Amino acid sequence: MRILVIEDEARIRTFLARSLEAEGFVVHSAEDGREGLARALAGSYELVILDLLLPGLDGLTVLRELHRRCPELRVLILSARTDLATKLRGFELGAVDYLPKPFSLDELLARVHVQLRNPHASDDGRVLQAGRLVLELTQRRARIGDTVTDLSDREFRLLYFLLLHAREVVSRERLLSEVWGYHFHPGSNVVDVCIRRLRKRLGSEAPIETVRNAGYRVEAT
Ligand code: CA
Repeated sequence: MRILVIEDEARIRTFLARSLEAEGFVVHSAEDGREGLARALAGSYELVILDLLLPGLDGLTVLRELHRRCPELRVLILSARTDLATKLRGFELGAVDYLPKPFSLDELLARVHVQLRNPHASDDGRVLQAGRLVLELTQRRARIGDTVTDLSDREFRLLYFLLLHAREVVSRERLLSEVWGYHFHPGSNVVDVCIRRLRKRLGSEAPIETVRNAGYRVEAT
């Protein structure tokens, strides 16, 4: 699913893109209102995350135009403007949700998932599976047969990414960038340490394979 982030603050924009990509979304971003509006109208997005205080064109104007020209497109406002009048104006102009800044990533992700949830699947039943390994997305835990393992945030993200790319070899560099958000090599083996811990916690049946000199792969049989 495709998400467009319209946000002028580079730090937040990058953080959002990275976090949403780690959840498996395709994320594009725009740094001002005019560019954001053009992109939103040109691309086929399932959701737009929209800041309000933007250069070029302010967020409420972007929202009004979007709603007029693409009434189906869902827009979630993420803004430091938290006064009731602005909020109500946002909903009036067609926003489906409004989250004040500063925000918690977990809450944002939960709200994004609510907006994009498959209407035919219950949220509690959302899983990713590879062979006997089942990752329960809402409960953030892994299951192999009857053995259930609660995962830390990092372990969950790592496993989620590997499962999304089951059968593919995923390099350490890619995991560092997608799961840890490092775009440089930290000079430590954080990925290997986390994989080792995951294997230990999941037990001997964990289908995570080391591919020599290449990375890791989750087996799907
Ligand atoms: Ca802003």
